Amino acid sequence: MGLARDIDGRAVAAALRARLAMRVASLGFQPGLAVVLVGHDPASAVYVRNKDRAATACGLAVRTIGLPADVAQAELLAVVAELNADPAVDGILLQLPLPAGLDADAVLASIDPAKDVDGLHPYNAGLIAAGRPGLTPCTPLGVMKLLASAGVTTAGARALVLGRSVLVGRPMAALLTNADATVTLAHSRTRGLDDECRRADIVVAAIGRPEFVPGDWIRSGAVVIDVGINRIADGRLVGDADYAACRVHASVITPVPGGVGPMTIACLLENTVAAALAIRARA
Ligand code: NAP
Repeated sequence: MGLARDIDGRAVAAALRARLAMRVASLGFQPGLAVVLVGHDPASAVYVRNKDRAATACGLAVRTIGLPADVAQAELLAVVAELNADPAVDGILLQLPLPAGLDADAVLASIDPAKDVDGLHPYNAGLIAAGRPGLTPCTPLGVMKLLASAGVTTAGARALVLGRSVLVGRPMAALLTNADATVTLAHSRTRGLDDECRRADIVVAAIGRPEFVPGDWIRSGAVVIDVGINRIADGRLVGDADYAACRVHASVITPVPGGVGPMTIACLLENTVAAALAIRARA
């Protein structure tokens, strides 16, 4: 077998953004996205800038609300409440992580579920877990779109999701289950991870450990989706799978960077447009 085919996440995301921009231009109103950024974490500031740029290019009205790192929990909740009530705001994104001392779960739970474009409100998480439509976390949604773009059949496939975070692993396992895969959700306490991985037709790695999954864990012809983004000592960005070794065995693989990463923002824009339409349909 030759080397795996790459899924070009940049191209898939660019096509999605272009389709969304055309859709937004034909809406007759401008969907609004509010991004709440607390503190001065440099990585968060870069993510927010990228989101702002992509959303603006897509025709959305973007507002970033910057708050100091020592903002009181009550004040942060009041900002969210204001955005919940603002008819010009269709999507609210709380940039994570929050500075120490703030309760992110409480703030996420205070976002109007109809405006929860990150899909992290327990109500939306519950809908996804129940197999019902709801606002879906952007990274797992992006993975499903990449699988579809590569023509990967999920129905009946054995899928291993490595990592059980609320942000990625858990909703990923739910979406794959909803797409009729047979899913194993693995984590740091999983025994025999190597064998679990070798049984999988689809491996989604989301653990935050550089090049953790070696090539010989990948069965011949499997699909490898690498969500991990890790900066290593020499300054390079690598995923959670050993890309060079895994692509010897896999049929399809996502590179890092240029795989899952670009899909996350594109799906945030899609969620914002979907939220705007759903809010107006209900009004
Ligand atoms: P997280 O909240 O830190 O969760 C990591 C998960 O991996 C946990 O469930 C943990 O298990 C599991 N884990 C850690 N070490 C493990 C090991 N040695 N063996 C098996 N499981 C292990 O991370 P996250 O937010 O899900 O992010 C995961 C990765 O994806 C990171 O590299 C992050 O940067 C990246 N990411 C990328 C995007 C994107 O847009 N591409 C978006 C979000 C995240 P326990 O639950 O047992 O502790």
